[in-house]
Formats: sequence, C-alpha cells, structure tokens
Amino acid sequence: MDLYEYQARDMFERHGVPVLQGLIADTPEEAKKAALTIGGLTVVKAQVKTGGRGKAGGVRVAPTPEDAEAAATAILGLDIKGHVVHRVMVAEGADIDREFYFSVLLDRANRNYLVLCSYEGGMEIEQLAEERPEALARIAVNPSTGIDLGVAQDIARAAHFPAELVDVVAPVFVSLYEVVQKEDATLVEVNPLVLTKKGDVIALDGK
Ligand code: GDP
Ligand code: MN
Repeated sequence: MDLYEYQARDMFERHGVPVLQGLIADTPEEAKKAALTIGGLTVVKAQVKTGGRGKAGGVRVAPTPEDAEAAATAILGLDIKGHVVHRVMVAEGADIDREFYFSVLLDRANRNYLVLCSYEGGMEIEQLAEERPEALARIAVNPSTGIDLGVAQDIARAAHFPAELVDVVAPVFVSLYEVVQKEDATLVEVNPLVLTKKGDVIALDGK
C-alpha cells in the first residue's frame, strides 16, 4: 500500500526521522487555520499518490496564513497526472541550503535491500540516474545486518557527501532504515532530503 506524504511524514516522525511540522487540510479555511497554528512561512502541498507535484503546481510557498488559504484554493481540485487533489498538507517552511536523495528498496531478486543515495539531489531521480549515474551511489544492504552507523557513514561517503556532513546525515539514514525494517516497507524514498541553512538534515518529502 502506498502512503500519502502526510502519512509517511507521521511514520518517519515515529521512528525518529527528522521532519517538519505538517497539518492536513481539506478546505482553504482549514489551510489558513493550519498555517496560523504552525506560524511563519509555510508550504502548501498537494496530497496525491504521485510524484512531480512541484512541477505541476502542487507545492506552493505561503508566507502568510492568507497566502496558505489562497495556495490551498489553487491546489485543491488540481489534476496531477490523473490524481485529483482533495487534501493538502500545510507544512512548516524549510530554509534549504542543499537537496539530497536517499531511498531504500527491497531487492527481491537478490534477497537484500538496495540503497540509492546522492549528494546531488533536487532533480528527478530518473534524470539523475540517466545524466549523472556516477553521482548516484547504489549500495546493497544485507537484511541480517541492516544499516548501523558505520554502514550509514559508508553510504554517505559513497554518495560523495563531504567529510563534514557524513556524521550529520548518517544517523538519519539509520532512522530511515529503521522505518524500512519496523514497518516492513518495500520502499522508503526521501526526495529531497535537505540540509537547512541552520545545518539540520530533514526529510522534506516521503514515499
Ligand atoms: P514532489 O515534486 O512531488 O516530489 O514534491 P516535494 O515535496 O519533493 O517538493 C518539491 C520541491 O519543492 C522540493 O524539491 C523543494 O525544492 C521545494 N520545497 C518543498 N518544501 C519546501 C520548503 O519547505 N521550503 C522550500 N524553500 N522549498 C520547498
Ligand atoms: Mn519529492
């Protein structure tokens, strides 16, 4: 079963993956209220089980609660690749410094997990895999050992994270693997995983 982003966000939070505050809204009025509750700049995001929401106009930055209300008005009812938007998530806005890519998928043929990770995020993963394959690390993970801090550091280095960021992202990889294991997931994908200007690593989207 695929989850909506807000469900993935809540699941991530339960497993200690750093996420930002996010509240769902089914009407523009609820979106305005959610933005007031969160305070400050928010991002209004279409909740549909398909990617590419950003490009389709389904992700809008809202500096004020009134902007969040207007963004929800624009997003609710949108058709994104055949999925009509009935719900949005109003999320705390992130001050993004860099965008990364991280995913773990069940590799049935090889009886293990495959981790895909890149320091160069911010674009569609299919495009990255095609245009800059060397930037996308592919690491097989043995399910009987999983991803401990050492393995997570190896993944970060293989994905070309600079030395000073390896120890910052590694614990997040450990928590994301915990989601895979404890929730028995066949896929956990974070695109983008971001570094904020304050220096925190946060899962900004989740599948
Ligand atoms: P997707 O297009 O369906 O994958 O939706 P995402 O949740 O990944 O959002 C698309 C893009 O919107 C991200 O890659 C970010 O660049 C941008 N974005 C999402 N949330 C925020 C935020 O809180 N602050 C800023 N500045 N940009 C955001
Ligand atoms: Mn995304």
